[in-house]
Amino acid sequence: MVLQHGTAGRLCIDLGALVANYQLIAQHVAPATVAGVVKADAYGLGAVPVSAALYAAGCRHFFVAHLCEAAILKPHLPIDTTLYILNGLPLGAEGDCVAVGAVPVLNSLEQIDSRAALARTMGRPLPGVIQIDSGMGRLGLTPDELAILRMSPERLDGIDLRLVITHLACADDPDDGFNERQRTAFDAIARQFPGVPRSIDNSGGAMTPGVGHGDIVRAGIALYGGAPHGQPNPMRSVIALDAYIVQLRTLEAGAGVGYGLTHRFDRPARVATISVGYADGWPRHLSNRGSAWIGGVRVPIVGRVSMDSMALDVTDVPDALLHAGAPVELIGPHQTIDDVSAQADTISYEILTRLGKRYARTYLPASVANPDRSIMA
Ligand SMILES: *Cc1c(COP(=O)(O)O)cnc(C)c1O
Repeated sequence: MVLQHGTAGRLCIDLGALVANYQLIAQHVAPATVAGVVKADAYGLGAVPVSAALYAAGCRHFFVAHLCEAAILKPHLPIDTTLYILNGLPLGAEGDCVAVGAVPVLNSLEQIDSRAALARTMGRPLPGVIQIDSGMGRLGLTPDELAILRMSPERLDGIDLRLVITHLACADDPDDGFNERQRTAFDAIARQFPGVPRSIDNSGGAMTPGVGHGDIVRAGIALYGGAPHGQPNPMRSVIALDAYIVQLRTLEAGAGVGYGLTHRFDRPARVATISVGYADGWPRHLSNRGSAWIGGVRVPIVGRVSMDSMALDVTDVPDALLHAGAPVELIGPHQTIDDVSAQADTISYEILTRLGKRYARTYLPASVANPDRSIMA
Protein backbone atom coordinates (compact mmCIF):
# COMPACT_ATOMS: atom_id res chain seq x y z
CA MET A 1 0.00 0.00 0.00
CA VAL A 2 1.47 3.37 -1.03
CA LEU A 3 0.02 6.07 1.21
CA GLN A 4 -0.30 9.64 0.04
CA HIS A 5 -1.55 10.90 3.41
CA GLY A 6 -0.05 10.22 6.80
CA THR A 7 3.50 10.55 5.53
CA ALA A 8 6.20 13.01 6.56
CA GLY A 9 5.82 14.82 3.28
CA ARG A 10 6.05 14.68 -0.48
CA LEU A 11 9.37 14.02 -2.15
CA CYS A 12 9.19 14.62 -5.86
CA ILE A 13 12.10 13.39 -7.98
CA ASP A 14 12.29 14.84 -11.47
CA LEU A 15 13.90 12.21 -13.69
CA GLY A 16 13.70 14.62 -16.62
CA ALA A 17 15.95 17.05 -14.76
CA LEU A 18 18.26 14.14 -13.87
CA VAL A 19 18.57 13.22 -17.55
CA ALA A 20 19.10 16.87 -18.53
CA ASN A 21 21.96 17.01 -16.03
CA TYR A 22 23.40 13.79 -17.43
CA GLN A 23 23.31 15.27 -20.93
CA LEU A 24 24.88 18.55 -19.82
CA ILE A 25 27.79 16.66 -18.23
CA ALA A 26 28.08 14.44 -21.32
CA GLN A 27 28.39 17.50 -23.58
CA HIS A 28 30.95 18.99 -21.25
CA VAL A 29 33.26 15.96 -21.12
CA ALA A 30 32.83 14.60 -24.65
CA PRO A 31 34.35 12.44 -26.03
CA ALA A 32 34.58 10.93 -22.53
CA THR A 33 31.59 8.89 -21.37
CA VAL A 34 29.54 9.62 -18.24
CA ALA A 35 29.07 6.90 -15.64
CA GLY A 36 26.32 7.27 -13.05
CA VAL A 37 27.46 7.10 -9.43
CA VAL A 38 24.42 5.55 -7.75
CA LYS A 39 25.92 4.60 -4.38
CA ALA A 40 23.88 5.20 -1.23
CA ASP A 41 20.68 4.44 -3.17
CA ALA A 42 21.56 7.11 -5.75
CA TYR A 43 22.27 9.67 -3.01
CA GLY A 44 18.92 8.84 -1.45
CA LEU A 45 16.86 9.32 -4.61
CA GLY A 46 16.38 5.63 -5.49
CA ALA A 47 19.09 3.67 -7.32
CA VAL A 48 16.64 1.59 -9.36
CA PRO A 49 14.53 4.37 -10.93
CA VAL A 50 17.55 6.66 -11.24
CA SER A 51 19.61 3.98 -13.02
CA ALA A 52 16.71 3.14 -15.34
CA ALA A 53 16.36 6.80 -16.37
CA LEU A 54 20.11 7.14 -16.89
CA TYR A 55 20.17 3.93 -18.93
CA ALA A 56 17.42 5.24 -21.19
CA ALA A 57 19.54 8.34 -21.72
CA GLY A 58 22.53 6.23 -22.80
CA CYS A 59 24.40 5.56 -19.54
CA ARG A 60 26.02 2.12 -19.42
CA HIS A 61 28.43 2.38 -16.48
CA PHE A 62 27.28 2.55 -12.86
CA PHE A 63 29.18 2.81 -9.59
CA VAL A 64 28.15 1.83 -6.07
CA ALA A 65 30.30 1.76 -2.93
CA HIS A 66 29.61 -1.69 -1.47
CA LEU A 67 28.97 -5.21 -2.67
CA CYS A 68 25.65 -5.21 -0.78
CA GLU A 69 24.47 -2.30 -2.92
CA ALA A 70 25.60 -4.06 -6.08
CA ALA A 71 23.69 -7.20 -5.08
CA ILE A 72 20.46 -5.19 -4.85
CA LEU A 73 20.93 -3.12 -7.99
CA LYS A 74 22.49 -5.64 -10.41
CA PRO A 75 19.31 -7.62 -11.16
CA HIS A 76 17.62 -4.36 -12.23
CA LEU A 77 20.33 -3.35 -14.69
CA PRO A 78 20.21 -4.44 -18.33
CA ILE A 79 22.85 -6.91 -19.45
CA ASP A 80 24.85 -4.36 -21.47
CA THR A 81 25.80 -2.37 -18.37
CA THR A 82 28.77 -2.59 -16.01
CA LEU A 83 28.38 -2.13 -12.28
CA TYR A 84 31.51 -1.25 -10.32
CA ILE A 85 32.15 -1.37 -6.57
CA LEU A 86 34.19 1.66 -5.49
CA ASN A 87 35.23 0.48 -2.04
CA GLY A 88 36.58 -2.79 -3.39
CA LEU A 89 36.12 -6.11 -1.63
CA PRO A 90 36.93 -7.25 1.86
CA LEU A 91 38.87 -10.52 1.91
CA GLY A 92 36.44 -13.39 1.66
CA ALA A 93 33.89 -11.54 -0.47
CA GLU A 94 35.47 -12.41 -3.85
CA GLY A 95 33.17 -15.37 -4.51
CA ASP A 96 30.04 -13.39 -3.67
CA CYS A 97 31.20 -10.62 -5.99
CA VAL A 98 31.51 -13.07 -8.88
CA ALA A 99 28.03 -14.38 -8.10
CA VAL A 100 26.64 -10.84 -8.17
CA GLY A 101 28.46 -10.06 -11.41
CA ALA A 102 29.87 -6.73 -10.32
CA VAL A 103 33.34 -5.40 -11.09
CA PRO A 104 35.37 -4.55 -8.00
CA VAL A 105 37.69 -1.58 -7.77
CA LEU A 106 40.90 -3.16 -6.49
CA ASN A 107 42.43 -0.79 -3.98
CA SER A 108 45.46 -2.75 -2.77
CA LEU A 109 47.92 -5.46 -3.81
CA GLU A 110 46.13 -7.79 -1.43
CA GLN A 111 42.85 -7.24 -3.28
CA ILE A 112 44.58 -7.75 -6.63
CA ASP A 113 46.15 -10.98 -5.41
CA SER A 114 42.91 -12.47 -4.12
CA ARG A 115 41.00 -11.53 -7.28
CA ALA A 116 43.76 -13.03 -9.45
CA ALA A 117 43.88 -16.18 -7.32
CA LEU A 118 40.14 -16.66 -7.72
CA ALA A 119 40.42 -16.17 -11.49
CA ARG A 120 43.09 -18.86 -11.66
CA THR A 121 40.97 -21.22 -9.56
CA MET A 122 37.98 -20.61 -11.80
CA GLY A 123 40.07 -20.97 -14.92
CA ARG A 124 38.79 -17.81 -16.53
CA PRO A 125 39.69 -14.11 -16.42
CA LEU A 126 37.74 -11.88 -14.02
CA PRO A 127 37.15 -8.18 -14.69
CA GLY A 128 38.68 -5.64 -12.35
CA VAL A 129 39.48 -1.96 -11.94
CA ILE A 130 42.63 -0.58 -10.34
CA GLN A 131 42.44 2.56 -8.25
CA ILE A 132 45.55 4.66 -7.83
CA ASP A 133 46.05 7.00 -4.90
CA SER A 134 47.33 10.12 -6.65
CA GLY A 135 47.26 12.24 -3.50
CA MET A 136 43.92 11.99 -1.74
CA GLY A 137 45.38 9.51 0.74
CA ARG A 138 42.19 7.53 1.06
CA LEU A 139 41.85 4.50 -1.22
CA GLY A 140 43.93 2.91 -3.93
CA LEU A 141 47.41 1.66 -4.63
CA THR A 142 50.21 3.71 -3.11
CA PRO A 143 53.39 4.59 -5.01
CA ASP A 144 55.17 1.75 -3.19
CA GLU A 145 52.54 -0.78 -4.21
CA LEU A 146 52.67 0.47 -7.80
CA ALA A 147 56.44 -0.03 -7.82
CA ILE A 148 56.02 -3.59 -6.58
CA LEU A 149 53.41 -4.23 -9.26
CA ARG A 150 55.79 -2.84 -11.90
CA MET A 151 58.39 -5.39 -10.83
CA SER A 152 55.91 -8.28 -10.81
CA PRO A 153 53.24 -7.59 -13.44
CA GLU A 154 52.31 -11.29 -13.42
CA ARG A 155 50.32 -10.58 -10.26
CA LEU A 156 47.65 -9.21 -12.60
CA ASP A 157 47.45 -12.49 -14.56
CA GLY A 158 43.82 -13.54 -14.67
CA ILE A 159 42.50 -10.02 -14.19
CA ASP A 160 40.78 -8.46 -17.16
CA LEU A 161 41.73 -4.86 -16.42
CA ARG A 162 38.78 -2.67 -17.48
CA LEU A 163 39.69 0.70 -16.04
CA VAL A 164 42.35 2.57 -14.09
CA ILE A 165 40.90 5.22 -11.82
CA THR A 166 41.90 7.88 -9.35
CA HIS A 167 39.90 10.34 -7.25
CA LEU A 168 40.45 14.10 -6.91
CA ALA A 169 40.55 15.52 -3.40
CA CYS A 170 39.78 19.15 -4.27
CA ALA A 171 37.62 18.99 -7.41
CA ASP A 172 34.90 21.14 -5.82
CA ASP A 173 37.34 24.05 -6.23
CA PRO A 174 38.60 24.07 -9.83
CA ASP A 175 41.20 26.73 -8.95
CA ASP A 176 42.89 24.55 -6.37
CA GLY A 177 46.33 23.69 -7.70
CA PHE A 178 46.18 20.23 -6.19
CA ASN A 179 43.83 19.12 -8.99
CA GLU A 180 46.55 19.65 -11.59
CA ARG A 181 49.11 17.88 -9.42
CA GLN A 182 46.87 14.84 -9.10
CA ARG A 183 46.06 14.80 -12.84
CA THR A 184 49.75 14.97 -13.73
CA ALA A 185 50.68 12.27 -11.23
CA PHE A 186 47.88 10.03 -12.48
CA ASP A 187 48.83 10.50 -16.15
CA ALA A 188 52.36 9.38 -15.37
CA ILE A 189 51.25 6.34 -13.36
CA ALA A 190 48.50 5.28 -15.76
CA ARG A 191 51.19 4.75 -18.43
CA GLN A 192 52.05 1.66 -16.40
CA PHE A 193 48.77 0.22 -17.76
CA PRO A 194 48.92 0.89 -21.49
CA GLY A 195 45.68 0.64 -23.43
CA VAL A 196 43.51 0.53 -20.31
CA PRO A 197 40.72 3.19 -20.19
CA ARG A 198 41.11 5.90 -17.55
CA SER A 199 38.72 7.57 -15.13
CA ILE A 200 39.64 10.60 -13.05
CA ASP A 201 36.75 13.00 -12.56
CA ASN A 202 33.82 13.19 -10.20
CA SER A 203 31.20 15.92 -10.77
CA GLY A 204 33.55 18.75 -9.87
CA GLY A 205 36.32 17.47 -12.11
CA ALA A 206 33.90 16.74 -14.95
CA MET A 207 32.57 20.31 -14.94
CA THR A 208 36.05 21.85 -14.77
CA PRO A 209 36.81 23.54 -18.11
CA GLY A 210 40.07 23.21 -19.97
CA VAL A 211 41.23 19.84 -18.70
CA GLY A 212 41.17 16.36 -20.21
CA HIS A 213 38.56 14.04 -18.77
CA GLY A 214 39.99 10.61 -19.60
CA ASP A 215 37.61 7.96 -20.90
CA ILE A 216 34.89 7.81 -18.24
CA VAL A 217 33.82 10.42 -15.70
CA ARG A 218 32.07 9.32 -12.51
CA ALA A 219 29.24 11.78 -11.92
CA GLY A 220 27.22 11.79 -8.72
CA ILE A 221 26.06 14.99 -7.09
CA ALA A 222 25.75 17.02 -10.32
CA LEU A 223 23.34 14.45 -11.74
CA TYR A 224 21.19 15.01 -8.65
CA GLY A 225 21.22 18.79 -9.01
CA GLY A 226 23.98 19.70 -6.56
CA ALA A 227 26.44 22.42 -7.53
CA PRO A 228 29.68 20.83 -8.79
CA HIS A 229 31.57 24.00 -7.74
CA GLY A 230 30.06 26.99 -5.87
CA GLN A 231 27.50 29.27 -7.52
CA PRO A 232 26.09 29.80 -10.09
CA ASN A 233 25.02 26.19 -10.37
CA PRO A 234 24.58 25.03 -13.98
CA MET A 235 22.67 21.90 -12.97
CA ARG A 236 18.89 21.61 -12.84
CA SER A 237 17.20 20.94 -9.51
CA VAL A 238 16.07 17.34 -9.28
CA ILE A 239 14.15 17.16 -6.02
CA ALA A 240 11.30 19.07 -4.45
CA LEU A 241 10.41 18.40 -0.84
CA ASP A 242 7.21 19.53 0.86
CA ALA A 243 6.14 18.93 4.44
CA TYR A 244 2.58 19.37 5.72
CA ILE A 245 1.18 21.57 8.44
CA VAL A 246 0.13 19.22 11.24
CA GLN A 247 -1.28 21.83 13.63
CA LEU A 248 -1.52 25.59 14.10
CA ARG A 249 -1.67 27.68 17.23
CA THR A 250 -1.24 31.22 18.45
CA LEU A 251 1.29 31.79 21.21
CA GLU A 252 1.52 34.81 23.49
CA ALA A 253 4.51 37.10 23.71
CA GLY A 254 6.97 35.46 26.13
CA ALA A 255 5.86 31.89 25.34
CA GLY A 256 8.40 29.37 24.10
CA VAL A 257 8.31 26.49 21.64
CA GLY A 258 9.84 23.03 21.32
CA TYR A 259 12.21 20.96 23.48
CA GLY A 260 14.09 23.16 25.90
CA LEU A 261 11.96 26.18 24.89
CA THR A 262 15.02 27.46 23.07
CA HIS A 263 12.99 30.08 21.21
CA ARG A 264 10.79 32.63 23.00
CA PHE A 265 8.45 34.93 21.13
CA ASP A 266 8.75 38.67 21.69
CA ARG A 267 5.33 39.27 20.11
CA PRO A 268 2.17 37.18 19.81
CA ALA A 269 2.94 34.62 17.10
CA ARG A 270 1.24 32.13 14.83
CA VAL A 271 3.10 28.84 14.94
CA ALA A 272 2.74 25.95 12.50
CA THR A 273 4.02 22.53 13.49
CA ILE A 274 5.07 20.62 10.38
CA SER A 275 5.52 16.94 9.67
CA VAL A 276 9.27 16.69 9.05
CA GLY A 277 11.99 16.23 11.66
CA TYR A 278 15.54 15.02 11.91
CA ALA A 279 14.44 11.40 11.38
CA ASP A 280 13.41 12.57 7.92
CA GLY A 281 16.87 13.95 7.27
CA TRP A 282 16.18 17.54 8.19
CA PRO A 283 19.31 18.60 10.09
CA ARG A 284 18.78 19.24 13.79
CA HIS A 285 21.52 21.82 13.32
CA LEU A 286 18.87 23.98 11.62
CA SER A 287 17.11 24.46 14.99
CA ASN A 288 16.43 28.20 15.32
CA ARG A 289 18.39 28.98 12.14
CA GLY A 290 16.87 27.34 9.08
CA SER A 291 13.67 28.18 7.32
CA ALA A 292 10.88 26.92 5.11
CA TRP A 293 8.59 28.68 2.64
CA ILE A 294 4.81 29.02 2.44
CA GLY A 295 3.28 30.77 -0.55
CA GLY A 296 6.56 32.53 -1.29
CA VAL A 297 6.92 33.81 2.29
CA ARG A 298 10.00 32.78 4.24
CA VAL A 299 9.05 31.21 7.56
CA PRO A 300 11.82 30.68 10.10
CA ILE A 301 12.24 27.47 12.06
CA VAL A 302 11.60 28.30 15.72
CA GLY A 303 12.85 26.09 18.52
CA ARG A 304 14.58 22.78 18.09
CA VAL A 305 14.00 20.44 15.19
CA SER A 306 12.50 17.30 16.78
CA MET A 307 12.52 13.76 15.46
CA ASP A 308 9.20 13.93 13.62
CA SER A 309 8.31 17.60 13.52
CA MET A 310 9.48 21.15 13.84
CA ALA A 311 7.81 24.51 14.39
CA LEU A 312 7.69 27.48 12.03
CA ASP A 313 6.86 31.11 12.80
CA VAL A 314 4.12 31.74 10.26
CA THR A 315 2.89 35.06 11.66
CA ASP A 316 3.58 36.80 8.32
CA VAL A 317 1.76 34.26 6.15
CA PRO A 318 -1.74 35.03 4.80
CA ASP A 319 -4.40 33.11 6.78
CA ALA A 320 -5.79 31.44 3.67
CA LEU A 321 -2.57 29.44 3.31
CA LEU A 322 -2.60 28.22 6.88
CA HIS A 323 -4.57 25.09 7.63
CA ALA A 324 -3.82 21.55 8.71
CA GLY A 325 -2.57 19.59 5.71
CA ALA A 326 -1.32 22.67 3.84
CA PRO A 327 2.01 22.11 2.06
CA VAL A 328 5.23 23.77 3.20
CA GLU A 329 8.22 24.04 0.88
CA LEU A 330 11.44 22.69 2.37
CA ILE A 331 13.33 22.21 -0.89
CA GLY A 332 12.02 23.79 -4.05
CA PRO A 333 12.03 27.02 -6.04
CA HIS A 334 12.88 29.20 -3.02
CA GLN A 335 15.44 26.97 -1.35
CA THR A 336 17.83 24.53 -3.06
CA ILE A 337 19.73 21.60 -1.57
CA ASP A 338 22.82 23.82 -1.65
CA ASP A 339 21.01 26.60 0.27
CA VAL A 340 19.89 24.14 2.94
CA SER A 341 23.30 22.53 3.25
CA ALA A 342 25.01 25.91 3.57
CA GLN A 343 22.65 26.89 6.40
CA ALA A 344 23.30 23.55 8.08
CA ASP A 345 27.11 23.79 7.71
CA THR A 346 27.21 20.68 5.57
CA ILE A 347 27.19 19.68 1.90
CA SER A 348 24.32 18.86 -0.43
CA TYR A 349 25.48 15.23 -0.49
CA GLU A 350 24.63 14.84 3.17
CA ILE A 351 21.23 16.51 2.81
CA LEU A 352 20.29 14.14 -0.03
CA THR A 353 21.64 10.91 1.45
CA ARG A 354 19.82 11.50 4.74
CA LEU A 355 16.35 11.92 3.25
CA GLY A 356 14.39 9.31 5.16
CA LYS A 357 11.95 6.60 4.26
CA ARG A 358 8.81 8.39 5.46
CA TYR A 359 8.09 10.49 2.37
CA ALA A 360 5.53 9.76 -0.33
CA ARG A 361 7.86 9.61 -3.31
CA THR A 362 6.77 10.63 -6.77
CA TYR A 363 8.97 10.21 -9.83
CA LEU A 364 8.34 12.57 -12.73
CA PRO A 365 9.24 10.53 -15.80
CA ALA A 366 11.94 11.54 -18.24
CA SER A 367 10.83 11.46 -21.82
CA VAL A 368 13.93 10.47 -23.74
CA ALA A 369 12.26 10.39 -27.15
CA ASN A 370 15.43 11.20 -29.06
CA PRO A 371 18.39 10.05 -27.03
CA ASP A 372 21.54 11.62 -28.31
CA ARG A 373 23.40 8.67 -29.82
CA SER A 374 26.72 10.44 -29.47
CA ILE A 375 26.58 9.94 -25.71
CA MET A 376 25.84 6.24 -25.85
CA ALA A 377 28.62 4.31 -24.19
C1 LIG B 1 31.24 9.31 -4.65
C2 LIG B 1 32.34 9.22 -5.64
C3 LIG B 1 32.20 9.84 -6.90
C4 LIG B 1 31.07 10.78 -7.24
O1 LIG B 1 31.39 12.04 -6.70
P1 LIG B 1 30.47 13.33 -6.94
O2 LIG B 1 31.26 14.43 -6.34
O3 LIG B 1 29.19 13.08 -6.26
O4 LIG B 1 30.29 13.46 -8.42
C5 LIG B 1 33.19 9.59 -7.84
N1 LIG B 1 34.26 8.82 -7.55
C6 LIG B 1 34.43 8.24 -6.35
C7 LIG B 1 35.65 7.42 -6.10
C8 LIG B 1 33.50 8.44 -5.35
O5 LIG B 1 33.68 7.89 -4.14
